[in-house]
Amino acid sequence: MAGDMSTSASEGFEPPALGEPYLLTPGPLTTAYSVKQAMLRDWGSWDADFRTMTADLRRGLLALIGDARGEYDCVPLQGSGSYCVEAMLGSFVPRDGKVLVLANGAYGLRAAQTMKYLGRAHTLIDKGDYLPPRGDEVGAALDADPSITHVLAIHCETSSGILNPVAEISQATYARGRKLLVDSMSAFGAVPLEVGQIRYEAMVSSANKCIEGVPGFGFVIAKKSELEAAKGNSHSLALDVHAQWATMEKTGQWRFTPPTHVVAAFLAALKMHAAEGGVPARGARYAKNRDVMVDGMRKLGFETLLSDRWLSPIIVTFFCPAHEKFVFSRFYELMKDKGFIIYPGKLTVVDSFRVGCIGRMDEHVMRRVVEAAAASLAEMGVDTAAPPASAIAERAKLAA
Ligand SMILES: *Cc1c(COP(=O)(O)O)cnc(C)c1O
Repeated sequence: MAGDMSTSASEGFEPPALGEPYLLTPGPLTTAYSVKQAMLRDWGSWDADFRTMTADLRRGLLALIGDARGEYDCVPLQGSGSYCVEAMLGSFVPRDGKVLVLANGAYGLRAAQTMKYLGRAHTLIDKGDYLPPRGDEVGAALDADPSITHVLAIHCETSSGILNPVAEISQATYARGRKLLVDSMSAFGAVPLEVGQIRYEAMVSSANKCIEGVPGFGFVIAKKSELEAAKGNSHSLALDVHAQWATMEKTGQWRFTPPTHVVAAFLAALKMHAAEGGVPARGARYAKNRDVMVDGMRKLGFETLLSDRWLSPIIVTFFCPAHEKFVFSRFYELMKDKGFIIYPGKLTVVDSFRVGCIGRMDEHVMRRVVEAAAASLAEMGVDTAAPPASAIAERAKLAA
């Protein structure tokens, strides 16, 4: 069935090459052919051509945050997204600082774990799997502990798909004279994070999320004043954002071997992002992807973990059906046979799975995802995808 993909792609959204499945996962994700094609040559890392590419990349990313006063700079860093989170925390939080980590899923908890490795003080608000941390809770925590210097927020918590209210978190943080750091890994490029709207000192994202590049580096966008003040803070040579920035400013080069091909692919992806209409258009396509997919899945009886209010346009968590014949591993294989790689759930309490809405695909592809889900259920002998009562009870807590 994977061969069907070549005949039913919509205009501008060519199917993945050679019958590859679509990746309905939050990065790596399905990339455009032109993005992959951009990697078919070699670059010298020291050469002026590649230095120009690095400068274009930094400028292109800065253009997405509406920094009219030129207060921010962009520092790309080798590694996956977690390397950048660690680099941001280690570079901007002074050794005697203290971070309030806002967690509601795996990525918030990973940031807290990172603070432990760094041996720097932190405290945690853990909202469980899917409740958002709210501005008033952040305010209360900051009032109660004057030693907290920074707040770390996860923009879209990719483990549940919840879009956290960073605007109110930012307000609560700066109203008390503290500083905000944002992990916008899975949201940046599709959900606005303009510095004129939401105040923050630094944020991180990576190449293989909403800009639709391939994995290999991440980037920090931070206030220049914070970049300067970060000198000497880092616990790590390789993850020192100040040092990476200072070298790039001076030489135009990355400190250590850059992922040259990944940078080339990313520039092609950035060009497509701009051609599509930037952050608003990218966000609108993903929101449409989500709406079409969620609507179709609900018609099959599936239910989302989150109420519509908190559903991000990035990834959606569904409860596994209660039906005795539903087995997730079988469902996964049947979906893969039809050309779609879905994502297992990451919740602790109930069985779930996730479907990503990001990557080089549109609503026509999402309709076929729903058709594939319907066919897969039929093949398993599952006549309704309704979740167990316990899952619904769990979700009712969200409304409370
Ligand atoms: C993807 C992601 C990360 C980074 O994960 P890596 O596997 O290291 O790339 C961090 N935070 C969030 C919210 C993410 O979605």
